[in-house]
Amino acid sequence: MLLDKKTIIITGASSGIGAAAALAFARAGANVVLGARRAERLDALALQIRSLGSQAATLAGDVRDERYASELVALAAFEFGGLDSAFNNAGIMGETAPVPEMKPANWRNVIETNLTSAFLAAKHQIPAIRERGGGALLFTSSFVGHSNGGLAGMAAYAASKAGLVGLTQALASEHGSEGIRVNALLPGGTKTDMAGDDPATHDFIAGLHPLGRMAEPAEIAQAALFLLSDAASFVTGSAMLADGGVSVRLG
Ligand code: NAD
Repeated sequence: MLLDKKTIIITGASSGIGAAAALAFARAGANVVLGARRAERLDALALQIRSLGSQAATLAGDVRDERYASELVALAAFEFGGLDSAFNNAGIMGETAPVPEMKPANWRNVIETNLTSAFLAAKHQIPAIRERGGGALLFTSSFVGHSNGGLAGMAAYAASKAGLVGLTQALASEHGSEGIRVNALLPGGTKTDMAGDDPATHDFIAGLHPLGRMAEPAEIAQAALFLLSDAASFVTGSAMLADGGVSVRLG
């Protein structure tokens, strides 16, 4: 049980990578605090997790809202007595457009949802994790934040995901001495709502990856589980690719 009795916040838990991670963490013994916007989906996932014999609490909200960041930490304390770790995973692609055509409102929304939310989350999570004597933070970046070559119209998304790597490095440096590890996970193309369900698009994305396919959300969840567990006890400040090799090909 790699995460036995650890209390972990997971955002973006209503679907895709976040939902798969919540299940994987619960199976590994964690108490999970589930966040995203869709309350019914979070409640359904919590029921499934409880049926496995694990514990789950839910709170729907918007990760762009600082109050929501603090309420998730308070819920972890109320339900489970504190916070050990967090998987700050919620994110959006936003509109894809070349920069001259991109609306500033889209730029701001993508940066706020993907990057500012991570700052707000860390701001409220770190003091709680410190009270526990240490723990781990993980942010979902993307291969697009590492090697964007060849993908058009992704400026806001790429900037937000590269920004998460910088935030990760700063936090890892500042909080390592407190026993808090901080890492970024960079998935490749993954079969979730974000990737849509158009077979031609899936084929195109799969073809970019040396493994010749997209990831299942559960495969990315395993990488997240590793980074939050003591199996990664000497891993901090890293930007770990779990990308089917796509960044090797895109350069
Ligand atoms: P998804 O669309 O299934 O999940 C996104 C989650 O984020 C959902 O739960 C959604 O409700 C939540 N969310 C979005 N905006 C929010 C907001 N303002 N407040 C609260 N919750 C919000 O897609 P996914 O692929 O599982 O995405 C999870 C993460 O993985 C994202 O950060 C995404 O950028 C990243 N990622 C995805 C891929 C991919 O190919 N699917 C690749 C690399 C990285």
